[in-house]
Amino acid sequence: MNVPMLDLIREYEYMKPEIDSGIRTCLSHQKWILGPEVGELESRIATYLKSKHCIGVSSGTEALVLSLRALSMNLKGKEFFDREDMILTTAFTFVATGDAILRSGATPVFVDIDPNTFNIDSTQIRSFVESLPSKKRIRVVGIIPVHLYGLTCDMDEINKVAKDHHLFVLEDVAQAFGGQWKGAKLGTIGDAGCFSFFPSKNLGGFGDGGMVSTESDGIAEFVRILLKHGGRDKYDSGCLGFNARLDTLQAAVILAKLKYLDEFNEKRKRIGTRYTGQLGGLKGIACPGDQRGGHVYHQYTLRVKNGRRNEFRACLHENGIATMVYYPIPLHQMKLFKNRCVVYQTLMESERAAQEVVSLPIEPLLTEPETQFVIDTIKRFDKKGQAG
Ligand SMILES: *Cc1c(COP(=O)(O)O)cnc(C)c1O
Repeated sequence: MNVPMLDLIREYEYMKPEIDSGIRTCLSHQKWILGPEVGELESRIATYLKSKHCIGVSSGTEALVLSLRALSMNLKGKEFFDREDMILTTAFTFVATGDAILRSGATPVFVDIDPNTFNIDSTQIRSFVESLPSKKRIRVVGIIPVHLYGLTCDMDEINKVAKDHHLFVLEDVAQAFGGQWKGAKLGTIGDAGCFSFFPSKNLGGFGDGGMVSTESDGIAEFVRILLKHGGRDKYDSGCLGFNARLDTLQAAVILAKLKYLDEFNEKRKRIGTRYTGQLGGLKGIACPGDQRGGHVYHQYTLRVKNGRRNEFRACLHENGIATMVYYPIPLHQMKLFKNRCVVYQTLMESERAAQEVVSLPIEPLLTEPETQFVIDTIKRFDKKGQAG
């Protein structure tokens, strides 16, 4: 048997009529730049999220950079943050979360994760901020919580510390489209939310794409200006912008796939629940929790204990089962962030997670026999480990 992490060909076959017809419509109207599909997708996602504004952009990374710059504009009246401005986030994430902070002019502060959720530890956020003398404390401007692997961060605690210290909250929802926190869709809980349509995400296009959601008219307006070279008028720029528009063709593909988002998230959940149900009792691994039932399993990521991750992956590989490690190197250990970030105390849990995590196949269209084959292979691996 061959079990891939994801099977985009299978997914395309499943939705082929809608996708093909969406693309054919674009071929006939030829409005490639900010065509009607972009506006339609923005309003459909705004309805889905129940958010006031949604703005299509060229990637999840640009969604983060543009949002941060819009926040700077709104909070400070400046196009960029200053280097003394600190933005808290996790080191256990994709590099884009951190490099977006640098590109907005600010300094990333990495605090450790909660080992049970892999998400930023909100008590660490509070103790970092409150450890600073008041002159420095006011330079902490915001928090970027990342809903890693599709699991919601503790948004009550994060919003509380943000309120106490006047910080903005920018949600990185790249891995959690459709996820919820107490009835509200992720991306609508902080000041703004950033989504990615990278092909492997829960709602993926056929290339790069992203979206910003916000309740704030000010943020929305500035994001719209920035994505078109910094001008309200195309030929009269007011500030340093980007070419960061969402492509019409991508919007058409994502519009077709949006109909399947909830169904596919349900399918992911079913696979995740099945994995945990059958693997939860094994001694050599630790399954992910779903503390609040809101997990959308962008990844199903477990820990392999006792330094056996390589063995575990080799065993699955021999059986034709793909696995991935997200992420092998926490951000503070990358050369990019050397001398450019602040590390709060130790990032022991982030470093340990980087050594132990493995993600299993979570293709929503995985069949039951395929899922069971993954489970049985892991059970055999675990039994061998306990015996030896
Ligand atoms: C994918 C991802 C991004 C970046 O999205 P792109 O569309 O690839 O630019 C940002 N943050 C996280 C957590 C991601 O997983």
